[in-house]
Amino acid sequence: MGDLKVISSDNYLNIFSKKREAEITKTLNNNALSDDHPYIRSDRNTLKETNVSKGIFQILKKSYNFIYAKNPVTEKRQLWFVPAFFENFLGYCMYSSYVNDQGGISFNSNRQNLINKIGTNLSKHTSRKLDYQFTVIRSSHLNAWALPWGKIAIFEGLVKGIEKTEINGFKDLTKEDKIAAVLSHEIVHADARHTARRLEKIFVINILLVALRVYLFAKVVIGIKESKNDRFNKLEAYQEIDFIANYLLNLCVKLYLLATSRKQELEADRYGMYLMKKAGYNPKAALWLQHFFISRQLESPRWAVKINEIFSSHPSSKARLDANLKTLNEIESRS
Ligand SMILES: [Zn+2]
Repeated sequence: MGDLKVISSDNYLNIFSKKREAEITKTLNNNALSDDHPYIRSDRNTLKETNVSKGIFQILKKSYNFIYAKNPVTEKRQLWFVPAFFENFLGYCMYSSYVNDQGGISFNSNRQNLINKIGTNLSKHTSRKLDYQFTVIRSSHLNAWALPWGKIAIFEGLVKGIEKTEINGFKDLTKEDKIAAVLSHEIVHADARHTARRLEKIFVINILLVALRVYLFAKVVIGIKESKNDRFNKLEAYQEIDFIANYLLNLCVKLYLLATSRKQELEADRYGMYLMKKAGYNPKAALWLQHFFISRQLESPRWAVKINEIFSSHPSSKARLDANLKTLNEIESRS
């Protein structure tokens, strides 16, 4: 082997001409990695990038949780766009006129105090802290209702019925338990946003109906190539279709809202029983209440009860009794 000359790196460069050296420097400069290249980027930059993506994710997550929020009572996700202040405003505006129109506030202060006491006890355990208000209305009707933001009323007729009526198999219940069955049901209507949910559904349905009618109109009537006469005939045909479609759609919407309302009643019964249990009342009183309504219905003709059940926004007392029995078993098996 010949005599090998070992050259150092410095010497190695020296063997190239100055021109070649300049070419290499130029090429290296042209392919220079930017500061943002993954191989160059400092850890701090990487962290910054991660924070930005996390921030966007958080914003999306928050928006999702805001618009498609969990119901405070059922914990099921629902479209939610009626804000709390509007619920408060609705309840505030409607309460006094509702109470006055239906008979005014009861003169019986003992009854009013009792209702206040039971209602306040129950409302201490709700998911949302609303401005609860409980009123006894001077009316003989067997009724009670709830407006948004916890404005609740019970009719004197129902309180008297509760005070007087004894049903076999329910001797262990107190008057307070039975009143709590009514009030807890109404409290759940307010706490679970039932009125707001209804408004939200009606709003979405109306938007969909308008979109559908615009689509139908565009499909049937608009045609660029057709003569004026054809367009006129189509417009006439559209008006006939629109009339029938409008009638059928309105009927479907009414049936859907009726079904929604019945579902909300069962929901109010079910969570109301849990609320009673938590506040120290006997949830069995929810069964007593349905027996009480059934006993009152027996006083009316059967056909009248049947017709009332078909068009009622409430499920039949028998269906509610069955559902409440299941809930009672569920509550007892948990404790
Ligand atoms: Zn109800």
